[in-house]
Amino acid sequence: MSFQSLGLAPALLRAIDKSGFTQPTEVQSQSIPAALTGKDLMVSAQTGSGKTAAFMLPALQKLAGNPGNAGRGVQILVLTPTRELAQQVSDASGLLGAELGGLRVTTVVGGVPYGAQLKALSRRVDVLVATPGRLIDHLNTKRVDLSTVHTLILDEADRMLDMGFIDDIKMLVSKTPASRQTLLFSATLDGNVAKLAANMMRDPVRIEV
Ligand code: AMP
Repeated sequence: MSFQSLGLAPALLRAIDKSGFTQPTEVQSQSIPAALTGKDLMVSAQTGSGKTAAFMLPALQKLAGNPGNAGRGVQILVLTPTRELAQQVSDASGLLGAELGGLRVTTVVGGVPYGAQLKALSRRVDVLVATPGRLIDHLNTKRVDLSTVHTLILDEADRMLDMGFIDDIKMLVSKTPASRQTLLFSATLDGNVAKLAANMMRDPVRIEV
């Protein structure tokens, strides 16, 4: 399996090449073509499996060659359990989206001052990577609008639930359009994760690697 055969846009293939990735990992080979059909996905994947590119590439594909979307507001929202993971996802998004032309990635996490985040949110944001608690703060003060999100990603959903973010997640999901595509990644897909998925996803494709 090659990245070329997955159906990705040339701008993304160039960025993959620059990242030094030569072959998709298992979770990428399975998730990318499924996500490109537009369906919701629930995927069991461990850290280190290449899961970040597995969800970011199909999400970014909707921006590739679609300049009409530029400046429309937050289009991709990624929720992560921790600030460290949010930073990693942001960095990876910047690299994978580097050939799209002026993609703006913003990170909103707890435990840091509000100043820089407020400034970033007052400018254009294409991809927003956030931890749930701080994003709710910004939503409550109307600094962020999620009504333009076309792809919602939950990264390490089981950890977010373990950390008690269930109500925050439900509230944030309710602020995104019902027409969105939802991609859920988690180490496990049973129990509370399955319940959450049933609540917020439509006929998801289940992928276990
Ligand atoms: P992740 O599971 O998303 O945290 O990725 C783990 C590490 O694998 C990161 O350092 C990625 O840059 C790297 N990686 C992701 N996809 C590939 C790939 N297809 N080939 C080589 N390295 C990759």
